[in-house]
Amino acid sequence: MTSSFRRPRTAAAFLALLAVLATGCSGGGSGSDDADKPGAGAPAHNGNSSVPSDGSPAASGTAPASASSSPAPAGAIGAWTPNVRTLPLGPDGLPPVFTNGPRDKPRVALTFDSDMTAGMQDRLRTGKTASYDNTALLADLRRLKVPATFFMTGLWIDTYPQEARGIATDPLFEVASHSLTHRGFAGTCYGLGHVPTGEMAAEVRAPFERLRAVQGAHTVPYFRFPGGCYDKEALKAIAPTGVTPIQWDVISTDADGTTGDKIAATVLAQAKNGSVVVMHNSLGPAAHTGDAIVKIVEGLRAKGFEVVRVSDLVGAAAGR
Ligand SMILES: [Zn+2]
Repeated sequence: MTSSFRRPRTAAAFLALLAVLATGCSGGGSGSDDADKPGAGAPAHNGNSSVPSDGSPAASGTAPASASSSPAPAGAIGAWTPNVRTLPLGPDGLPPVFTNGPRDKPRVALTFDSDMTAGMQDRLRTGKTASYDNTALLADLRRLKVPATFFMTGLWIDTYPQEARGIATDPLFEVASHSLTHRGFAGTCYGLGHVPTGEMAAEVRAPFERLRAVQGAHTVPYFRFPGGCYDKEALKAIAPTGVTPIQWDVISTDADGTTGDKIAATVLAQAKNGSVVVMHNSLGPAAHTGDAIVKIVEGLRAKGFEVVRVSDLVGAAAGR
């Protein structure tokens, strides 16, 4: 049940991850959306985490196939989408971190993070940035009938409540938490800042409270750590919320400032059965996600993959 955090395995992938993180680093007063570079890039993933190994079926790496969900702890986020599964807590009492679904079926989940920091909100207020809402991407997902999972920050929901409601009430999609403020949960997290341990559970809950306020019927009890940064202490701190943390096994590089063709090629080359792909719908450095999405979806479908939501993969891993 235990293994080390799966770090990006190539330099390119690591750089791509850094670029992903830059999406949420816009508060430092740099001149443009793309100018914010991660700091020293110090390792933010402190290991000691219960993470399924890449390439192994989640049924063996994440949760026993026969396992059922643990009783919800007191204070847990209510799963108000019926039949959505979470993973049971591990023997150490920590939530297992989900990176991919079972490898036996050709199903891939596309995920979109809705990043927003206080600094990004400042850029909107001062007119330095026009928008952090990729409406063209959303239109393509709907036109192509692509199921998708969104991880929204509370600040993004505050900024775009109507858009958040539209996504969270669309049966094509499901929505989960990406923290309130997009600060890091472990280490320096590439300059994202750090959430004090005592505030971590509240950071996880805040987007759910907002999604409830906009009547987001398709909200699921999952959480994506900002920057993917976590450690054992963070997992312990968020355990009372009852969420299943969701990472990824395919980095799209969409926040790398690269072209849509390159993003699509990256995803299509790496996607395999059960993959979870991380992308963004919050523009900024991820300005070209929309240019890639049609190629990604058509390419995956041409290869025989079914595009599904994360809850479909978690459900399969949990033995539904
Ligand atoms: Zn993010």
